[in-house]
Amino acid sequence: MGRYRGPVCRLCRREGMKLFLKGERCMSDKCALSRRTYLPGQHGKTKPKLSEYALQLREKQKVKRMYGVLERQFKTYFRKASQAKGVTGEVLLQLLERRLDNVIYALGFSTSRRQARQIVRHGHVQINGKKVDLPSYLVKVNETIKLVGKESFINFIRQNRELSKERPLPAWLELKEDRLEGKVLRLPLRSDIVLPVKESLIVELYSK
Ligand code: SF4
Repeated sequence: MGRYRGPVCRLCRREGMKLFLKGERCMSDKCALSRRTYLPGQHGKTKPKLSEYALQLREKQKVKRMYGVLERQFKTYFRKASQAKGVTGEVLLQLLERRLDNVIYALGFSTSRRQARQIVRHGHVQINGKKVDLPSYLVKVNETIKLVGKESFINFIRQNRELSKERPLPAWLELKEDRLEGKVLRLPLRSDIVLPVKESLIVELYSK
C-alpha cells in the first residue's frame, strides 16, 4: 500500500498544529511550525473561513495524518467502529490507539509513529513471544510487547526512551523499561487519549 512521501512538516502546517511526525526535531526550535505559522502554499498567509464540511474534513485529515493511516484504512476503521458497540467516534480513536505502531510510540520506544512503524516492519517486535511485523496489528488486553534485536538496536531504543521521557505513559499500558517490554493492562478509554481531536466531526463527515 502506498505511503505519503512528500514533506511531512507541510502536513502539520496544513493542520495548523504539531502532529509530531519527525520525532526529536518536533521538540526542537527547528520545527517548521514554530518558524512558519501560516498555511503552506501560495495563499497560505490569508486565513480562509472554513465551511462546516471543511472543518469536518480537516479533523479527519488531522487524525489520519497523526496516526499515519491512509484513506482506505481509515474508512475501514470507521466502518468497524460504527458496527461496534459504543460511541462511534470513541471506538474509532480506540482502534487507532491500539495499533501496534502507536503502542510502540506510546511506550516511548520510538520518537515518532513513523519510526515505530519501521521498527515493527523490521521484525524487532514480539507479542507474547512471537514476532509480529504488522504495524496495524491491534493489541489486546494482557498482551506483552517486547523489543528484540542486536546490541546496537537495543542501545538505539534506550536512547529513544531517554528522548521520550517527557511524554507521559498512557494509563492503559505498563512499561518495564529495563526489559524493553510493555503490557496492555486494559483497552484505552477516551479519557486516556489526550490528542486535541473532535471525533464527532469525523462521524458527521462519514455519516453524510
Ligand atoms: Fe510537525 Fe515535527 Fe515538522 Fe514540527 S518538526 S512541523 S511537529 S513534523
